[in-house]
Amino acid sequence: MSEQSTATGAEELAQRYSRSLIGVFGAPQRVLVRGEGVHVWDADGNRYLDLLGGIAVNALGHAHPDVVAALGKQAETLGHVSNFFATPTQIELAERLLQLAQAPGGSGVFFTNSGTESNEAAFKIARRTGRPRIIALERSFHGRTMGALALTHKEAYRAPFEPLPGGVEFLPAEDLPALEAALATGDVAAVVLEPIQGEAGVIPLTEAYLLGVRELTAAHGTLLILDEVQTGIGRTGEWFAHQRFEGVVPDVMTLAKGLGGGFPIGAVVTFGEHASTLLSPGQHGTTFGGNPLGAAVALAVLGTLAEEDLLGAARTLGAQLTAEVAALAARDARVEGSRGAGLLQGIALAAPIAPQVVTAALEAGFIVNAANPSTIRLAPPLVVTGEQLTSFLTALPALLDRAEQLVAGTDATPEKRF
Ligand SMILES: *Cc1c(COP(=O)(O)O)cnc(C)c1O
Repeated sequence: MSEQSTATGAEELAQRYSRSLIGVFGAPQRVLVRGEGVHVWDADGNRYLDLLGGIAVNALGHAHPDVVAALGKQAETLGHVSNFFATPTQIELAERLLQLAQAPGGSGVFFTNSGTESNEAAFKIARRTGRPRIIALERSFHGRTMGALALTHKEAYRAPFEPLPGGVEFLPAEDLPALEAALATGDVAAVVLEPIQGEAGVIPLTEAYLLGVRELTAAHGTLLILDEVQTGIGRTGEWFAHQRFEGVVPDVMTLAKGLGGGFPIGAVVTFGEHASTLLSPGQHGTTFGGNPLGAAVALAVLGTLAEEDLLGAARTLGAQLTAEVAALAARDARVEGSRGAGLLQGIALAAPIAPQVVTAALEAGFIVNAANPSTIRLAPPLVVTGEQLTSFLTALPALLDRAEQLVAGTDATPEKRF
């Protein structure tokens, strides 16, 4: 206790964290106490420009009045019922998602509470085809529960938990001949992929590849499952990233992250009669999924994104960011360029110092993340301004200087990703 009494508020909280929480996330970078718009404040009163948005979650930033109002109003009206009952809020949200997805008649929605749960449901839908094999991509990330983990490529995440649900094979992205060969036997239930591989380092799949995957899966009666957990809900400048390319329509789409703008809610959208009837009554369920609180907040998020044309903002700001990173790359060899779409962008560095850049950025009052050792990921709230984005790029050369010092020095403390 004497140790705690001399610690500052933030230090004391960090110590209590490490004593009371299971250490899967490593040491927290800061203890945050408050947020407003694109800013958050830590327990020592320092302010940060949040360019990560809770990893593509806080679509409207922090404490947005529309979200606060929707949550309060729903909490006063009806907070939770079991799925033995329906609520108007949940029905309206399902209808809205189908409309935004331009899903045909016979399509449907299943609500969840997280990305990994959405992918679990998609996995079960795939199993119901009766076909044994599922194809996912190398470098994929689909979540941490057992089914989603089986679809996730990274060995370090998988190995400690084997055996995982079987039948999943990994193919390299952008290799259509390999996919064609894999599908030829007619026993592949589904191909699962992220239109932009976020956790891999913000790696967009090309239009040609996505169109090719759609054609091949359709030809072989294989479901195309798009994991839009990170790319959905306006982030790339369209409601869903696949809508950037005409003709890339999935059979199943999984959502979470931005949908609730910070309130935990996810969804699975099934396109058309076939995909929507694979799960029969009793074959799947959830207690919280479709809870009226989450549904009300999601409706507010979708409403405000549309009213304030924040999809248009994501497109404009994404283009601005791409141009500014390219200009920086032309004069600083440590920056190679950017990848991504809209406000999901990875800044590629020449050296694997992204974790140290994250530390330097925090010291300077910016929250960003190292999606891989040489990529800085930006996934800011869609209410961010062009000036705020520019302020980070203006600071970046100095952050790279500081990151190089951290790499050279003994005080280098690489930040954990999760
Ligand atoms: C974050 C993420 C998930 C997992 O979502 P959780 O809510 O953390 O379970 C799945 N797929 C993709 C593409 C993600 O980015």
